Amino acid sequence: MKTVFTEDNINALLDKAIAEKKIVAYYQPKYDAVTGHINGAEALARWIDEDGSIIPPYQFIPLLEKSMLITKLDWYILDEVCAFLSREIKRGAKNVTVSVNFSRFHTKEENFVTHLCEVVDSYSVPRKLIEVEITESALVDGTNIIQFISDIRNDNFSVAIDDFGSGLSSLTFVKDVPANVLKIDKSLLSGNCENEKERIVLESIFNFAQRLKLATVAEGVETKEQLGFLRTCGCETIQGYYFSKPVTESEYADILENHEPDEQSEDILVTQPAASATQLLLDAVFMCYPLVIMSNLSRNSFYMMVYENFTTRSCPSTGVYTELIMHGASTMLPEDQQLFIDTFDINDQINAYNNGQRTRRVVTRQKGDDGIYRPVETTNYYVKNPSSDDILAITLSRPVPEE
Ligand code: C2E
Ligand code: MG
Ligand code: MG
Repeated sequence: MKTVFTEDNINALLDKAIAEKKIVAYYQPKYDAVTGHINGAEALARWIDEDGSIIPPYQFIPLLEKSMLITKLDWYILDEVCAFLSREIKRGAKNVTVSVNFSRFHTKEENFVTHLCEVVDSYSVPRKLIEVEITESALVDGTNIIQFISDIRNDNFSVAIDDFGSGLSSLTFVKDVPANVLKIDKSLLSGNCENEKERIVLESIFNFAQRLKLATVAEGVETKEQLGFLRTCGCETIQGYYFSKPVTESEYADILENHEPDEQSEDILVTQPAASATQLLLDAVFMCYPLVIMSNLSRNSFYMMVYENFTTRSCPSTGVYTELIMHGASTMLPEDQQLFIDTFDINDQINAYNNGQRTRRVVTRQKGDDGIYRPVETTNYYVKNPSSDDILAITLSRPVPEE
């Protein structure tokens, strides 16, 4: 007979199942998106029913959350994971990081971190092998989540924000949370990622995570096409049925022992995500042009990337375009200043673009650190921002021989 869980029986059933080890941790391996190597797993609770069938979490976790018993389950799973890891470490296994789900109710638990340290240390498992997964919904719970997470991190555990993108937490809030891993929710991956708007959302999330130095894991990856797209976004780790479903502890131990990643190409252009190819391209551009400026002429703004400073110009790296031009002119030989100001007059450039002009070049003499004026070529290339009507100028600048 199948167990029917109710609010009245769940407590006793949970205690009994724990005592009889009828709740077990399954492990879903996680894979490096580029090399295909396993770099850890997530522990997921499974309840074994009287008849031996497996009860999935959605049938008991909501009730456990309602009665706050979920914390008991989480501590039990942590125990099981630590026991497993200590056996694996003795066996010589590598890359055995395991992430464990911790319900948001732990944020209200006194001495959570002390208890976490006690359990993990008692199995002599290095703390860095345990990752605490906290769902995104906990972030908006009102408790001092930032302090909570920073305490866990200070004791050398990794912290992942789980199910990111499934709920209400804003990007602004995530930037203040001292977690080190962002797990992107599977609801953001639909079909084979062919929907343009969904691709834009995912690209922006990965871009934002990379800039905040958060490691990224995509959950629920089921197809080769999804994997291909996630690689181009620079996603680092993949978890999903495409590689493996959650498996029993002994199956996971076998996988760890025998896993050979598919043959990988050594060619960087094949193995690296597009973001790295873009970096290579940038490196090449910087070899020719030590100063690159991206400007939005329609909005009078700019963003400067200086690889090597060849003028005395010390200027903020972002700001108002018209001020940048005046600043640039001020470092030039007085007789060249007006030519520079006229060539890069913002309205004149916009009008020229609208009349079909796509590039503009000028050579002026600029003062170097040694006080000597040398010719510098400044070329603007004009493009339209594909997602708005803004006119952008890409400025490539380099010292040139005397003309
Ligand atoms: P989660 O932490 O986000 O775990 C990932 C869920 O996605 C797992 O469901 C996993 O089996 C499923 N999944 C992974 N890859 C794929 C895929 O390619 N396609 C699809 N459709 N699903 C995939 P599972 O094991 O049913 O767990 C559901 C949720 O229950 C977990 O979501 C987690 O929030 C909760 N849970 C599981 N074990 C525990 C636990 O020990 N403690 C707590 N607090 N929550 C747990
Ligand atoms: Mg999880
Ligand atoms: Mg998740």
